[in-house]
Amino acid sequence: MPNDSLASEVFARAAALYPTPFHLYDEAGIRRTARAVREAFAWQPDFKEYFAVKALPNPMILQLLHEEGLGLDCSSLTELLLAQRLGFFGDEIMFSANAMPPEEFDLARQLGAIINLDDISDIDLLLRHGGIPDTVCVRVNTGGTFAFDGNQIMGTPGEAKYGWMPSQLAEGLMRLKSLGMKRFGLHAFLASNMTDPRYYPALARILFDLARKASEAAGVPVAFINLSGGIGIPYRREVQPVDIRAVGEAVRAEYEAAFGMPGPGKPGIKAELGRYITGPHGFVVTRAVHEKKTFKHYIGVDACAVQLIRPAMYGAYHEISVVGREHEPATERYDITGCLCENNDKFAIDRLMPEIHVGDLLIIHDAGAHAFAMGYQYNGRLRTAEILYREDGQYQLIRRAETPEDYFATMVWPDRKGESK
Ligand SMILES: *Cc1c(COP(=O)(O)O)cnc(C)c1O
Repeated sequence: MPNDSLASEVFARAAALYPTPFHLYDEAGIRRTARAVREAFAWQPDFKEYFAVKALPNPMILQLLHEEGLGLDCSSLTELLLAQRLGFFGDEIMFSANAMPPEEFDLARQLGAIINLDDISDIDLLLRHGGIPDTVCVRVNTGGTFAFDGNQIMGTPGEAKYGWMPSQLAEGLMRLKSLGMKRFGLHAFLASNMTDPRYYPALARILFDLARKASEAAGVPVAFINLSGGIGIPYRREVQPVDIRAVGEAVRAEYEAAFGMPGPGKPGIKAELGRYITGPHGFVVTRAVHEKKTFKHYIGVDACAVQLIRPAMYGAYHEISVVGREHEPATERYDITGCLCENNDKFAIDRLMPEIHVGDLLIIHDAGAHAFAMGYQYNGRLRTAEILYREDGQYQLIRRAETPEDYFATMVWPDRKGESK
């Protein structure tokens, strides 16, 4: 049984209440992980985690994360509006700019969000859209490849569109200082879905060093280091889950080596984890609706890439279990497919699974981040419901399924001559 799963009967009861397919989220699991992240960094009095809204933009989820003391990392006007409607304010919001319409800064400034600048030229945009705040965060990109121990390559920041070059930091910070900035934050996101616990400490060491040097060169103090997102989850069960407490302690060791003991006047630590917080606590609940034996053995389910595009888009692996058959041997080799007219609409290829019968409930695991959020309406397949499994055992509909009327709502229809309206 996958690590963070719920009992079979939790899925079965949900499917008796709501038509499949839908996303089901585990409130207790999300809260538990949010708390574990805060506790892991509790050694830093100025630590804050900003949940990356794009991972799971549902107001009820964002609200419960707010209750757990998390802020939000927003990257668009709509995400800012979501934060605003939920009452997030000021330094509870991180706004990560990235080639966006400049007006989007206006609402971010109005809300008092911390601005994370993606390029040195964005200083001018900021100047025109609300002026330069006391604290500005700067996103840095170290270029080349990002490797542990100099050889194991973990990411290729040199190919990423984000961030300033380290060589631009001193000049940019001096300019920001001359325009009124008092302190700066430094941010980087160098690799994604990292289940190697050395990721955050390695990133921390790089950022602490860059921040100290840039601070000296520009004569501006460091407000915080923003370690961003990127801590991964074990989509494959043979991968070890990240021990967040050990990661927090390893970052602490790097911190004390760079800045000494944390305390007043010392740099804070920020994080923007998305996937790590909610990923394991979301599930696509779907039903086998078709079986086909041709060149391969296919099981068609009522979900498709609209509910979860990661396998189609990145070839990503997601664990799939069959409710009530968890203990049966995996004797059959299946492709598990959706209904889109798109051959990559498969949740699994050549997967060994227990024998599946039409009508069986299938659970696609680790769909709590970048799943519903990446949904779309290709083929007129509509986004389906999101259900929250509450801590008290109740189920709550937290987003209804789209209807054809939702799909038609933005369309402009031709007049049909000869027919009355
Ligand atoms: C996507 C994103 C995150 C979250 O990434 P995860 O891999 O979900 O942890 C954090 N910060 C920024 C700026 C992002 O774009």
